[in-house]
Amino acid sequence: MARVYNFSAGPSMLPEPVLRKAAEEMLDYQGSGQSVMEMSHRSKVFDGIIVEAEVLLRKLMNIPENYHVLFLQGGASSQFAMVPLNLMVTKKKCDIVHTGQWSKKAMAEAKRYGTVRMVASSEDKNFTYIPDLTNVTFDPEAAYVHITSNNTIFGTRYRTFPDTGNIPLVVDMSSNILSEVIDVNKFGLIYAGAQKNIAPAGLTIVIIKKDLADEPQEITPTMFKYKTHVEGRSLFNTPPCYCVYIAKLVFEWLLDLGGLPAMQKINETKAAMLYDFLDGSKLFKPTVAEPHRSLMNIPFVLPSEELDAEFLKKSVTAGFVNLKGHRSVGGMRASVYNAMPVEGVKKLVEFMKTFEMNNR
Ligand SMILES: *Cc1c(COP(=O)(O)O)cnc(C)c1O
Repeated sequence: MARVYNFSAGPSMLPEPVLRKAAEEMLDYQGSGQSVMEMSHRSKVFDGIIVEAEVLLRKLMNIPENYHVLFLQGGASSQFAMVPLNLMVTKKKCDIVHTGQWSKKAMAEAKRYGTVRMVASSEDKNFTYIPDLTNVTFDPEAAYVHITSNNTIFGTRYRTFPDTGNIPLVVDMSSNILSEVIDVNKFGLIYAGAQKNIAPAGLTIVIIKKDLADEPQEITPTMFKYKTHVEGRSLFNTPPCYCVYIAKLVFEWLLDLGGLPAMQKINETKAAMLYDFLDGSKLFKPTVAEPHRSLMNIPFVLPSEELDAEFLKKSVTAGFVNLKGHRSVGGMRASVYNAMPVEGVKKLVEFMKTFEMNNR
């Protein structure tokens, strides 16, 4: 069996021990005689899984008691609508920081339900940086401020989060949740699609301060109310059961590793290996400068599209897949989420060194 190093931006790699454990338990989950895919979401066995998944996530992220944890569907893309529908109730305005295609989509949806003010943008330099927010005055009448903690396409990330005072800070953390230690208390709401750092596609995690999960806008469909899922303990309707189970295994894997402080160290090591090589290279160029660099998504370019194409072709033969960059940046992008082993990055850097030597 030959596994490749998959540098996809998402869906992405899952930790091998998690896949092995899932394979072991596939036909008979802990003596139930069924796989988790087949069992009732109302069964005692599945209830044990979803309850434990929440306990483990709370432990990993140190989530305080005054927050709900929800296991939903619909991806981060549904949250672009769910957030304004549920939060813009008495106050029908929000402030958004524009740092790429995902924040653009968040703005487009929010505009359908209220007034959106773009408070800062990095579009002037093709989103290669995070705007300085120290001098931004957030609207005290805004229902929330929205940011994207890690910009998957452009490879930027917030090092520090803005202080929004009493205005709830909402964050799309899809591509860097669980990659580093964060203080949940800074946020009113955190959401993330699972397919980058948590589980297979199909699960969306929402961590929401309890006082924000009240009555939403009148028009809100039942399935789009946070309240529905709080009251239903994420079992209002059939949840993505298998994804929740894999998420639980990933949380266990992270805790065994030493939790988020240990994971962050590993991620910093992996990212430094790539950035150090890129900074010293005469051929490859990183597209983002410090202090804006992502730990998860690392875009880089070669001097010509011909060389990009040649590099990509050779990389696949060498066992590295999905290194092609997003069309809005071009070149390459190495997504090195939690599950990418250090060994994978080390081998990629060696491969890039050889490519550089052969193309001097
Ligand atoms: C992938 C991604 C999304 C889209 O997620 P879906 O689950 O496909 O809706 C949104 N925001 C960010 C930051 C992402 O990385």
